[in-house]
Amino acid sequence: MNEKLLCRCTGSIVANNVANALDVNSIKYRMHEETADQRNGAYGPNPGIAFYVSEQDYQEASALVNPIINRPSLRFTPFCPKCGSEDTESINRSKAATTILLISIPLFIAPVVHIYFSKEWTMLSWIAVAVFFLSIILMVVGTKMNKNYKCNKCGKRFNRM
Ligand SMILES: [Zn+2]
Repeated sequence: MNEKLLCRCTGSIVANNVANALDVNSIKYRMHEETADQRNGAYGPNPGIAFYVSEQDYQEASALVNPIINRPSLRFTPFCPKCGSEDTESINRSKAATTILLISIPLFIAPVVHIYFSKEWTMLSWIAVAVFFLSIILMVVGTKMNKNYKCNKCGKRFNRM
């Protein structure tokens, strides 16, 4: 049976959760306590509890284990810039906002190019000016809509990478 390294847990709590998830789904695994190995640096700079599963079970096991290792609650959650609450959640960026921002780019560039290269000021130039201002409005609207975090306390939407 070919074994594959599933994950390496640095904390015993995470390791317990991983073991439970695998047990419940009756996936066979081998646990290896790397910190017990006497050789210095035998397992790289971050020794921990390693889990090995068979190659057939690897896909299923990693799908189970990934959310445990990358638990969102352990990640940094940003403060609300308006009320300072920590009760914030990530939201999906709106597709409309992305579309608006994408449309605004050529609308911003085209009039500038047109006016720069046209020798006379014509009716088209006025249209170009209008399109130029329209693109700025679209950018402002798109940026305002393009938020990826929401405060659950005051409802403020804000941006955080
Ligand atoms: Zn808030």
